[in-house]
Amino acid sequence: MSGVGKGVAASSIATVLQARGLNVTAIKIDPYINVDAGTMNPTEHGEVFVLKDGLETDQDMGNYERFLNKDLPAINYMTTGSVYLSVIQKERNLEYGGKNVEVVPDIPLEVIRRIKKAQSVAKADVVLIEIGGTVGEYQNILFLEAVRMMKTEYPDDVAVVMVSYLPVPGSIGEMKTKPTQTAVRTLNSTGVFADMIVARSPVGVDRKRKEKIAKFCNVQVENVISAPDVSSIYDIPLHYEQDELSLQLCKILGLSTRKVVDLSAWKRFVNRSKNTNDVVKIAVVGKYFNSGEFVLSDVYLSVLEAIKISAYALNLRPEISYLSAQDFTDATNLKSLKKYDGVLVPGGFGKTGIVGKLNVIEYVRKNKIPYFGICYGMQLAVLEYAQHVLKLQGASTEEIDPTATHLIIGVLPEQREKIAQKDMGGSMRLGQYEARLKKGSLARKAYKADSILERHRHRYEVNPDYVTQLVDKGLVFSGTSPDGRLMEIVELPATEHPFFVAVQFHPELQARPLDPHPLFNAFLKASYEAD
Ligand code: GLN
Repeated sequence: MSGVGKGVAASSIATVLQARGLNVTAIKIDPYINVDAGTMNPTEHGEVFVLKDGLETDQDMGNYERFLNKDLPAINYMTTGSVYLSVIQKERNLEYGGKNVEVVPDIPLEVIRRIKKAQSVAKADVVLIEIGGTVGEYQNILFLEAVRMMKTEYPDDVAVVMVSYLPVPGSIGEMKTKPTQTAVRTLNSTGVFADMIVARSPVGVDRKRKEKIAKFCNVQVENVISAPDVSSIYDIPLHYEQDELSLQLCKILGLSTRKVVDLSAWKRFVNRSKNTNDVVKIAVVGKYFNSGEFVLSDVYLSVLEAIKISAYALNLRPEISYLSAQDFTDATNLKSLKKYDGVLVPGGFGKTGIVGKLNVIEYVRKNKIPYFGICYGMQLAVLEYAQHVLKLQGASTEEIDPTATHLIIGVLPEQREKIAQKDMGGSMRLGQYEARLKKGSLARKAYKADSILERHRHRYEVNPDYVTQLVDKGLVFSGTSPDGRLMEIVELPATEHPFFVAVQFHPELQARPLDPHPLFNAFLKASYEAD
């Protein structure tokens, strides 16, 4: 079942294995035809997570990086589309030597090739692979076939963990194991047999239920892991270890069980997250929050996690409000922003909510409410400054009005050609780039470094033609590309504003529980301290 938490289950398993001193890497397999997640609408698919080398992926990759506290390479993410694409490209390159290329075995073999490659790139002791979707659906059958083939070839080196849901229907209040039994049977019909069952349920699974599941589902009772609902996903590794998940998995995989599990740093982080200390109130002003009756905070998942992680590091309790930019199109609503300690405008694309975001930025700049702008939130901060401080009539961004008199934000000449050829993906700046930080700036103070590496995902840039004018009127470009052409960080001097910092990149992608992001730390500290 989707939404049952396979991603965090996989991440948590990775964490507890890593805590045994094993070198762990993690792969996500998405059953979509989309070659990557870049073209998917965030309201349908959630956040697009960008890897260091620029691949646009599913948000689960972000969970893996946060839980493992390491960067993962592009080879660790695949979709049905990307696998088919490489098989077809190889066929076109005559790499199959004239033989018939077939769905089975050639598609699963390509999947296996990628898994092995990921292992060798990471020199991993364990490769954790999450197969998206549900057993019994058509879409992931070829990935299950890859599992079957691998298990046949390396019977002692492959362990299959099934994440299954055990409902407790409100009317009877009793946990039901039948759906799991059915799911196991469906899995078995693909030739794949589970070694371990992670039993997701509203409540913990007791010994009696475990025995029942073990008996009906062909697993040892020690290999039924209780995985109740928890208030924070970061509790999950600790829950798994109560059932000795890492020990059992090591036994199944024939790995040494002598090393003790060291989750002390993780435990310290979790304990801090449960504190009841002072609150810091942050408003995130985005455009994707509302979908019918629901608030879709998944779209900004990494931003929300980055805020929480930094708040915990500062021993603060974050209270995050999701505000719709569209609600601020009317300036009378702006006063409500006064109740927040800090305001963050995250990344975004297109026209929707733009007026509202610009209004919000103008308000927090003038009212000295701490502001943190990310990507679009940076471009719009620069645009707002051009409109209201430089008073440039007809200032805009090329994304909204390509014919505007003053294109403060625009496409650089080198990208223009690609866009003309409708190579929209190719025109994006994706992945990690270096930025140099200005002496004496807030950014440099926060990072405690003069050069940084951050991940990008955007098409437009601050137009270099306007930089001098903006600087003359007090805006500080405190981070630029090494050649000085691309504006990476903009801020207002500390004498003007308690905290007004906006960045062209996505710092949230590198915020991790055991390594909080310096800019989020600085933003939250300033928010908490400001009057
Ligand atoms: N829409 C902007 C651009 O393409 C910003 C992108 C973003 O916020 N990720 O440059």
